[in-house]
Amino acid sequence: MAEASFDRVPALAVTSLIRDSFIATGLPEADATRCAELMTEADLTGADGHGVFRLPQYVRRLKAGGFNKRPKIAVTRSGAATALVDGDNGMGHLVMARAADEAVALAREAGVGWVGVRRSNHAGPAALYAEMPTRHSMIGLYGAVANANHMAIWGGAELLLGTNPLAIAVPSGRGALVLDMATSIVAYGTVKKYALRGLAMPPGWFVNPQTGASITDPNKSGEGLLLPMGEYKGSGLALMIGLIGGVLNGAAFGRDVVDFNADDSSETNTGHFMVALDVARFAPIAAFTAEVDRHIRGLRQSKRLPGVDAIRLPGDRRAQCRDERLRQGVPVAPALLAQLDNLAAELNIKPLRDR
Ligand code: NDP
Repeated sequence: MAEASFDRVPALAVTSLIRDSFIATGLPEADATRCAELMTEADLTGADGHGVFRLPQYVRRLKAGGFNKRPKIAVTRSGAATALVDGDNGMGHLVMARAADEAVALAREAGVGWVGVRRSNHAGPAALYAEMPTRHSMIGLYGAVANANHMAIWGGAELLLGTNPLAIAVPSGRGALVLDMATSIVAYGTVKKYALRGLAMPPGWFVNPQTGASITDPNKSGEGLLLPMGEYKGSGLALMIGLIGGVLNGAAFGRDVVDFNADDSSETNTGHFMVALDVARFAPIAAFTAEVDRHIRGLRQSKRLPGVDAIRLPGDRRAQCRDERLRQGVPVAPALLAQLDNLAAELNIKPLRDR
């Protein structure tokens, strides 16, 4: 089904549904609000597999005891520029927002702040966190161990690697330039989106581990291996992010990863890393962003291959999508709307369409 025919819902209505759902499920009001804001930001920026789409699953997990509703997030500084955050199995959005604040605080003092995170949970699109230091004239870098293994190591046929995302955000004169990517050919959220919209996947995303043949039915993705982006390079990047975001922090990796799509109650011990780098330690921020802008202009104006209308930089679609959705509302697929209506009825709160 084409997105053009989806209902559009104002971002504030999405935030209020998420917030009320979490409060009804037992999250403290401030935490429910923070999670709702970050999930709505995912929807606004076009990360459709990571915003309100995840609400039914998160509520199920909260009800099943898979998340700690009242975590005591502990931050331990381990050096002038390093800290380890123990999320106490709280919602990933809360743990990561706290970790990003700490990375910025460390970078203000030491020039750079590297924060490792353990005992966290799924936290949505990587860009949400990489972008946070840019509001403080810093460069942001974020990586995470994904919450299910959809990939094999290059050449392997066992699901031992996550789609471990990486985001890098650099301040420019017009907001941050943000690269945000899964290390798989597409994020698994995209596969779920295809299933929800009744679309077939293009060949070359999933392969059957026995035959190597492509799987195109998104409802059969569980039978296959998701391929890495850039073949062995994506596989290698997913491995390294897993070691730095997971193993280094005492978080899950490889065979220890809990598939949070199949299991609502076990602690996932999700690992992340967050880095903030203070631009001022290298160049005055105004001079740096002017140089970034000059290079962006140069790249956009560079000669193009035949058939290319315009040079598109990472983050362009995200920024345009945010502007458009703030004005027109967030598109919600009919099947998702029905799920959200059921959820609202179950939690005895106002449905999305009445907000
Ligand atoms: P995409 O492949 O859509 O995009 C990856 C990056 O490339 C983006 O920065 C995008 O910018 C840029 N880009 C896309 N097309 C072009 C182009 N034609 N020219 C130049 N740049 C381009 O995203 P993925 O499918 O890899 O990831 C989707 C989301 O899933 C991400 O937000 C990721 O963080 C999330 N994810 C989360 C996981 C988790 O465990 N929490 C696990 C895996 C993924 P733009 O923003 O402009 O489109």
